[in-house]
Amino acid sequence: SLNWTHEDPDYLPPEIDTSRPSIARVYDAFLGGKDNFAVDRAVALEGMKHFPDGGEGARQNRAMLFRGVKFMAEQGIDQFLDIGSGLPTMDNTHSVAQRVNPDARVVYVDNDPIVLAHARALLRTDEKTRVLTADMREPEKIFNHPEVEGFLDFSRPIGLLLVAVVHHLGDDEGPEGLVDAYKARMAPGSYLQLTHFCSCAPEVRALEGVLLTMLGTGRARDMSEIVRFFDGLEPVEPGVVHVPEWRPERPVTYPLGLGGICIAGGVARKP
Ligand code: SAM
Repeated sequence: SLNWTHEDPDYLPPEIDTSRPSIARVYDAFLGGKDNFAVDRAVALEGMKHFPDGGEGARQNRAMLFRGVKFMAEQGIDQFLDIGSGLPTMDNTHSVAQRVNPDARVVYVDNDPIVLAHARALLRTDEKTRVLTADMREPEKIFNHPEVEGFLDFSRPIGLLLVAVVHHLGDDEGPEGLVDAYKARMAPGSYLQLTHFCSCAPEVRALEGVLLTMLGTGRARDMSEIVRFFDGLEPVEPGVVHVPEWRPERPVTYPLGLGGICIAGGVARKP
């Protein structure tokens, strides 16, 4: 059975490496989840030492992810490609989308095999949701993946989620060109939701330093660089903002605090 965490706590699939921290598990640790190991918690704890609002940043990002998915589903989007989806948590893209439209289809993509192991256990009986292990740096492999072909219809609008994942690409990996490759494949009327670690305060640079040293990835970029990822698309109000300010359900309290400003993003529509 794939439900290994609950059936045999000592068994780990061989592809899960617990000797080195993984991005998905460190993020889970920041969120206060249980699907992480000592090596991952060590990174989160060191990060929190330099940036005590790290957990709040992750929670705000996740809350904005769900507001964006709900918004897109309400606009009629019924198929979502969630790249760098992370480990399943309290709520997830497919549940949010399917609360608006029970027929909405969701494909989760992550390059960390632990995501597949956990998500499969969760999704065993869900025919509208799929999960696969693939790398966002290989868009064609994702578009042509057997789990995607015939399940998502790229001739119709989709909701593409690149939420808190593009900051795991180095400048030398051409993040803009890569995002453009995804945008090019989206039908008119599609939406892109993207959030990104934002170098809006010196304290964020300290957290970035911990992530780059201990995890090897996690680059903060400034607002203008984040805005550029949406080039060629029509921004949905209020544009690219700190995540708590994106169509909040309750009035936002200012100052936002470091947890509120460390991630920025938005949603935009392909004309
Ligand atoms: N999107 C979720 C959210 O915002 O709550 C999770 C964000 S988490 C910070 C980043 C996720 O991206 C991790 O699960 C990590 O494994 C995944 N990731 C990092 N680099 C990736 C790549 N090259 N291809 C696919 N997934 C990647």
